[in-house]
Amino acid sequence: MRTEFILAAITAVNDAVLNSEAELESLDREIGDGDHFINLKRGCATLLAMREELAPLPPADVLQRIGMKLLSTIGGASGPLIATFFMTMAKVEKAGDISTLAEISAAFTASVEAIKQRGKANAGEKTMLDTLIPVANTFSSLTAVNAEPTQVFDAIQQAAEQGMLSTKDMIATKGRAAFLGERAIGHIDPGARSSQIIIHTITELAKQHQAA
Ligand code: ADP
Ligand code: MG
Repeated sequence: MRTEFILAAITAVNDAVLNSEAELESLDREIGDGDHFINLKRGCATLLAMREELAPLPPADVLQRIGMKLLSTIGGASGPLIATFFMTMAKVEKAGDISTLAEISAAFTASVEAIKQRGKANAGEKTMLDTLIPVANTFSSLTAVNAEPTQVFDAIQQAAEQGMLSTKDMIATKGRAAFLGERAIGHIDPGARSSQIIIHTITELAKQHQAA
């Protein structure tokens, strides 16, 4: 993973989050407290402002600083979980360079595992994990058979979309939506949708970098 790619991803994700304001706000208003968009926007703005400070650093330090900063800026239930993701990516990167797609996939899987532990949640609970777990599974199974990068990115995008959509019919057992019981049915989970948007954005960027 290169620092330059992480910086490009910050800009792209910020744009994508800002473009999804209306949708993310209304999803969290329906089954949460309406702040998910604002939480993410604040996190993205903070990272954007850190770009110059991050640019000269090795990727492990960049990921670590991102994680620490997000822990104190995003807030809500999602803040510590997203921060945990980056801190675990940093730890894996520090232990050995993450450069091949298979290595990135292993780091991603470890980081999703860390979110599961931190939030004591698993697939099927109507959270961001319903996007992230299928992505981790698809990512590892395709890199294990040395699939072409474009095929890997396309399959990840599909898995993320299916996972996100699958939250619509679920009852939530974690997070604020758990208080709603059956009333949460029929609504997509905001964290599942934002994770899918972010994953879509980063895999599109990865495709462009690969073509360049
Ligand atoms: P809050 O719920 O505190 O208002 P946000 O609105 O920023 O925080 O984030 C809500 C999202 O966090 C939910 O849509 C869900 O995807 C995710 N979430 C909440 N609790 C958990 C958990 N224990 N594990 C994984 N994701 C969770
Ligand atoms: Mg909320």
